[in-house]
Amino acid sequence: MKKLSEADIIRFLANDVSLPSNVFGIGDDAAVIHRGDYDEIITKDLLIENQHFRLHYSTPAELAKKALHVNLSDIAAMGGVADYIFLGLSVPLTLSPEWLEAFLHHVQLECQHENVYLLGGDTTYSPHGLTISITVIGHGMPSSIKYRHHAKVSDVVCLLGFTGDAHAGLLLLEKNIPDFESLKKCSLAPTALTKEGRWLGAQPAVTAMMDTSDGIFIDLKHLCDASRVGAILNIDALPLSPQLQLACDRLQIAPIECALIGGEDYGLLFTVKQEMYHVLHGDFIKQFDTPFNAIGIVTNTGHLELKEHGELYHFNYKPFSHFNENI
Ligand code: ADP
Ligand code: MG
Repeated sequence: MKKLSEADIIRFLANDVSLPSNVFGIGDDAAVIHRGDYDEIITKDLLIENQHFRLHYSTPAELAKKALHVNLSDIAAMGGVADYIFLGLSVPLTLSPEWLEAFLHHVQLECQHENVYLLGGDTTYSPHGLTISITVIGHGMPSSIKYRHHAKVSDVVCLLGFTGDAHAGLLLLEKNIPDFESLKKCSLAPTALTKEGRWLGAQPAVTAMMDTSDGIFIDLKHLCDASRVGAILNIDALPLSPQLQLACDRLQIAPIECALIGGEDYGLLFTVKQEMYHVLHGDFIKQFDTPFNAIGIVTNTGHLELKEHGELYHFNYKPFSHFNENI
């Protein structure tokens, strides 16, 4: 039977719509509606039990945080600020009322913590496990919104945050390996880089931005494709956390592969005008502790090349999928 992949579905929908001129629709971390002196930013994510999370790995607080932050990350990736959310829930009859109450309570607490208001949503019962869908509405100044498609040749490719930690955390959980709590936390309850995204949005030196949700290799490819450029990714410059190196020894996997394909880190991947890179980096580290690394350069080749110590690095990309997810 013919099967449509996630990319096929998005392409199908994106080709079919002709939008009003004040709207930027499918193709970035969020949609943008130009409202005159400000822009509205809207995004939605869907988390499905046993595809994106397992109830026996997560506490209600962790899952509430994850459900909100995967969306906040998309708003941060546009350089915007989140304001309001809508919560969609499809709840199995088997879920205990205590668990559900605790989850709802933590959604409210997370909203308070992140300064966003829950305005509505929808609730149904589910025959097959828990589904959580959050829509976030945010805003930004038109000059601060960062798209994926504005990277220019010779811009510096930069990454905020480590890469591979969330994937390693998930593998540790799946293999029931004890310890490495910080990596597991990256998978179970990621923290969106909201303040950093807003700060980068306000910097004219930043040309393009997105968050890292599918793994740095595929995310950078998406940014290059959107901008119709290529890039060199220096794999020796990828920021690997000390815990990741230890966990990969334990998991018997190569840290660099984990760093390249591991999804769900919710770091920020962005490009910076080369001549402004040093000033921007200096200003950033005065205010934030988040790891900020230059990991490559934008090229005119139209494709993504990996290099290690200046030599071409051959990498056989195999996509990562959550559990048994197959679209
Ligand atoms: P992200 O990982 O940043 O959440 P996705 O890869 O999920 O982004 O989505 C890429 C783009 O495709 C976004 O603009 C998103 O709104 C759009 N998209 C994804 N699924 C659908 C859908 N079912 N209908 C319409 N647009 C979609
Ligand atoms: Mg995104």
